[in-house]
Amino acid sequence: MDYVDPEGTPWTRLRWTSAIDRLRLIGRVHRLLIPQGKGESMSSTADVVVIGGGFAGIVAARELSLRGVRTVVLEGRDRLGGRTWSREVAGHTVELGGAWVHWTQPHVFAEISRYGLELLQSPTPDVGTWLVNGDLRTGPKQQLTTRLESALKKFWGAEVGEVNQLHSLDWAMPVSSLDQLTVQDRLDTTDLTDEDKALLSGLFATMGCGPCSSTSLVAMLRWWLLGGATLDGVVAATGGYKIRGGTGVLVDAIVADGDFEVQLSTAVTRVEQMSQGIRVTTRTGDSYTAKVAVCTIPLNTMSAIDFSPALSGAKARAAREGQSSCGLKAVIRLAGVAEQVSAFAPDTHPFTDLETDWVDGAEQGMIAFGARADRLDLSDLDAVAAAVHTLLPQAEILEVLSHDWVGDEYSRGTWTVLRPTHATQIAADLQRSEGPLIIAGDATASLWNGFIDGAIESGLRAARQARSALDGNAAGPEVLCEGTPR
Ligand SMILES: Cc1cc2nc3c(=O)[nH]c(=O)nc-3n(C[C@H](O)[C@H](O)[C@H](O)COP(=O)(O)OP(=O)(O)OC[C@H]3O[C@@H](n4cnc5c(N)ncnc54)[C@H](O)[C@@H]3O)c2cc1C
Repeated sequence: MDYVDPEGTPWTRLRWTSAIDRLRLIGRVHRLLIPQGKGESMSSTADVVVIGGGFAGIVAARELSLRGVRTVVLEGRDRLGGRTWSREVAGHTVELGGAWVHWTQPHVFAEISRYGLELLQSPTPDVGTWLVNGDLRTGPKQQLTTRLESALKKFWGAEVGEVNQLHSLDWAMPVSSLDQLTVQDRLDTTDLTDEDKALLSGLFATMGCGPCSSTSLVAMLRWWLLGGATLDGVVAATGGYKIRGGTGVLVDAIVADGDFEVQLSTAVTRVEQMSQGIRVTTRTGDSYTAKVAVCTIPLNTMSAIDFSPALSGAKARAAREGQSSCGLKAVIRLAGVAEQVSAFAPDTHPFTDLETDWVDGAEQGMIAFGARADRLDLSDLDAVAAAVHTLLPQAEILEVLSHDWVGDEYSRGTWTVLRPTHATQIAADLQRSEGPLIIAGDATASLWNGFIDGAIESGLRAARQARSALDGNAAGPEVLCEGTPR
């Protein structure tokens, strides 16, 4: 036995070498604990149980534990980091999930500063390639940018001028009149050329990680505004810089800084509010009793947990309807392409965007995005080659690396893209705690909703709400700026 907690519960050291490897925290391995007698159901207590060990969960746990709150993180997967996952390909660190960060994303940049991490600039392509009604067009990257900018100006039209005047974090306030609409609705009703439509379809299907017909116009409007309402600003903020060494470096730094317990391979199936506190039950029948629970799992996985009492109105609707991303990201190592390229295709194409990520002699690594994960089998190199060839006919595919985030039971989608009407009808409610239950995660962020930054923002908020609840105060609404919907 390695440790008996203050409630007398015995714990033993987790013997899982890759987790130890992964965390590179040899001196702090005692933090990774499993209850003794795993396999038989057991119960344990903590002040706060955090469900999910992505950025939201580990930031909440760090904040709480650094203030002396006894915190345990229950994570379904056998690793931390959630929808971020750094891997090595041909000597390059690649990200299968969340990758890019920026100094206009205040929460993640504060973490980068706090741990003294470095940023790595992604390549700036010199050639643009785009598909319009089956016709492949190529030119200097600046030509592609100019065409996209012109199309975006028409697309956003006058409303954006009005919305730009509003410096509000309230989801509902500036946009309720637009929140019924999808990107496709706007494409269909704006005076655009075929080329404009093809370019915007590729751009928004990439940003929304789904077809334009299901992507919320308002979700995309927020990207646009947060990026400073310029194409350069949005591209820099969402695709310009990565953390040197990978997002795993930041995960490790946060975990090493905190003083909380982590249970890997521990899927939660039930969350039950009791007369005092809350009970969390896992798939193996173990239970954890705590004063407060912070649930940070992705929106599209929430229906897998049995909440008792059932989640209230807007939260229940969010869990039922989920968020809309259903696309793919792949890392493709290829040869035969001499230039650094940015390529776009409409949302009907298996790949809506291909971008050079690194160049290594005659080879390069490209990041590919697509609107539907079910449209292309990424393990079939011939199918991938056929899709790439419509944009880069000369490419020779060497290797493809990806993760099926949509099929994965712990994500059921990629980054959060709130569905039409959810910004005005659901977003603010998601941030309100229900008794001892607090909801966090990228879907609940006020600012960069759907990003690493938003996950961190939500973890900070959840920790604040949890401390408030532990102090016996109602953890009231936490919307930073609330207004009356128009
Ligand atoms: C392909 C892809 C590309 C992306 N690109 C970017 C990008 O470039 N920049 C950016 O900022 N963001 C990007 N994102 C989004 C970013 O990765 C996420 O917004 C962020 O990581 C979400 O963190 P989170 O903690 O809210 O959720 P998650 O990281 O999903 O963490 C939730 C955790 O809960 C666990 N879990 C789920 N169900 C259970 C259960 N029942 N019991 C216990 N644990 C459970 C999951 O395993 C997971 O670890 C991308 C995401 C993907 C998938």
